[in-house]
Amino acid sequence: MHTQRLSAADIAPAAEILRRGGLLGIPTETVYGLGANGLNSEAVAHIFEAKGRPQDNPLILHIPSADWLERYCEDIPEAAYTLARRFWPGPLTMILKHKSIVPAAVTAGLDTVGMRCPAHPVCRAIIAAADLPVAAPSGNTSGRPSPTNMADMLEDMDGKIDGIVDGGPCVVGVESTIIDLTEQPPRLLRPGGITLEQLESVLGEVAVDPAVTRLMGAGEQPRAPGMKYRHYAPKAPVTVVQGAPEAAARYIQTHLAPGDGVICFDEYAPLFEGHLMEQLGPSTDIPEQARRVFDALRWFDGTDVQRIWAQCPDAAGLGLAVSNRLSKAAGFHIIRAEKFC
Ligand code: AMP
Ligand code: MG
Repeated sequence: MHTQRLSAADIAPAAEILRRGGLLGIPTETVYGLGANGLNSEAVAHIFEAKGRPQDNPLILHIPSADWLERYCEDIPEAAYTLARRFWPGPLTMILKHKSIVPAAVTAGLDTVGMRCPAHPVCRAIIAAADLPVAAPSGNTSGRPSPTNMADMLEDMDGKIDGIVDGGPCVVGVESTIIDLTEQPPRLLRPGGITLEQLESVLGEVAVDPAVTRLMGAGEQPRAPGMKYRHYAPKAPVTVVQGAPEAAARYIQTHLAPGDGVICFDEYAPLFEGHLMEQLGPSTDIPEQARRVFDALRWFDGTDVQRIWAQCPDAAGLGLAVSNRLSKAAGFHIIRAEKFC
């Protein structure tokens, strides 16, 4: 299949691909998505084929505004509207009970559906022009780090999708926050661009799903089937080193073998000269780390690196999302460098 390259001005041809049941690479503020008509089971099935995604991993429905919620969801709690007023359009996905119009292909047979109104103006314009809810996961091959620019998505999807729209690099860089509003208290299933602290300021108590911070045990049942899958991982094994940035950098420097690579904060790059290295941004600039984390992980797949050591921000604010993506890429292989200097 030839994958058509579209520009941000090509709203009508992009919407047409969705309307005729095709697959479209769509820029969003979080990561590039792989979109299809969310009411067309056959189109949605092609998303799973293109990504090699397990069938029991549900997709998110993207809508242009909160007033589309009633079309697809029922028993919507007041909190959903409060969150929408505060954080939509933006990187927040709400899990709600769905109406029967939403196909099982989108929800993986669950009685809930993930709903999001994205902030990227090109993305919203395409959805509005198509006049459809757009089902979309991230635009990577299943298991690989998510794409945060058009070139990264083409690396995985060229020839497998009908078109892709260039909306520039993603400004958030990690996927949306997922909050399950069908439980009391609401439960954070995935940290992302809207922080836990922001959610708590609106909702009060928020439960954090154990899968956010640790590996699920063999007998444990994750809240949603998709949460059990290995994610975001480069080919080489990753070790995350937490702790004060200086201590973590020194720990890595001491343990680094020839052929190993490093993901580090900018300040510590000189320590790793001569090694394959990706810089995450300044240790204090977490938004920049979020924008770079997936690109850093993807970059190593083009090298013959043996092992990757990664510095990691603290789990506060947006740091929880960056730390979660690095930890998942590492299969939660995490070391804490205490006062190691
Ligand atoms: P992706 O952005 O590629 O990770 O795909 C969408 C994410 O949303 C996956 O992690 C899904 O597990 C999650 N998701 C979608 N629908 C639901 C749902 N009804 N309940 C829980 N998680 C969901
Ligand atoms: Mg994904």
